[in-house]
Amino acid sequence: MHLVLFDIDGTLIKGGGMGGRALRQAFEEVFSVSAVENSDLDKVHFGGRTDPAIITDMATALNLQIEDPLHPTFVEAFLRHLRSNVDTTPELKTCPYIPELLQSLHHDPRVCLGLITGNMEPGARIKLDPFELNPFFPIGGFGEDGFERHLLVGAAIERGRNHYDIGFDPEEVVVIGDTQNDIKAGRAHGCLTVGVATGWVEEENLQQANGSAVFKDLSPENGFASWLNEQLS
Ligand SMILES: [Mg+2]
Repeated sequence: MHLVLFDIDGTLIKGGGMGGRALRQAFEEVFSVSAVENSDLDKVHFGGRTDPAIITDMATALNLQIEDPLHPTFVEAFLRHLRSNVDTTPELKTCPYIPELLQSLHHDPRVCLGLITGNMEPGARIKLDPFELNPFFPIGGFGEDGFERHLLVGAAIERGRNHYDIGFDPEEVVVIGDTQNDIKAGRAHGCLTVGVATGWVEEENLQQANGSAVFKDLSPENGFASWLNEQLS
C-alpha cells in the first residue's frame, strides 16, 4: 500500500494568485496598512513555502512586528477574503488531467490519498471546494504543522497512519509537487518524490532537485501513470 500526497497550488489547481491577494487584503484589513498594491510585497516568495513562513515574510516587508503569523483574527480575515476570491477568480482551474487522475487513484486498492500543502487546512479546503476535490483527501500535512515544509510531510504520514490504519514506510510514500521545495521536503523523509511542471517552475529546474521523477504534467501521455504503476507493483 502506498500513500500518495499531493501539493495544491501549481499541482492540483492554479489559482490566479488568489492566495497572495487574500493575504494582502487581510494585512490591509487587520493592520490598516497599504498592502494590496504594495510593491514591497512583490519580493516575498510563495512557491513551495508554508503560510506561516509567507505571512512572516510579508509582515517583515511591511515593517510589522507580529508574534503569531497564524493569529486567529488574521486567519479569519484571510479565509474570508480567500473565499470571496475563489468566487471571483475566473482563472481558477484544475491542472491537466487532475480530476480524472484522482478518480482513478481513488479506486486503486494500492493507493491511499492525502494532501501535502503549505496552506492552512481551512484555506486548502476552500481552494479545492469549487472542484469537489476535498472528498479525495481525508488527511494531509498543512501550514499549521510548521514553518518548514518537511515538517508537513511528517505530519501527513502520521495522519495517514492514523486514518488508514497503515504504517507507511518512507519508500511507500509519494510526495508530488511543483517546486524544488516540495521535492526536498519529501527527500528529507526518504519518500519517493515527483516534480510536476504545471506550476511556475520549469521541468529542467525541477530535475536539479534530484527527485525520483519529473513530469511535464500528470497526464498519461506524459508518463506519470506508468511510472506510478511501476512503483506500486
Ligand atoms: Mg505548489
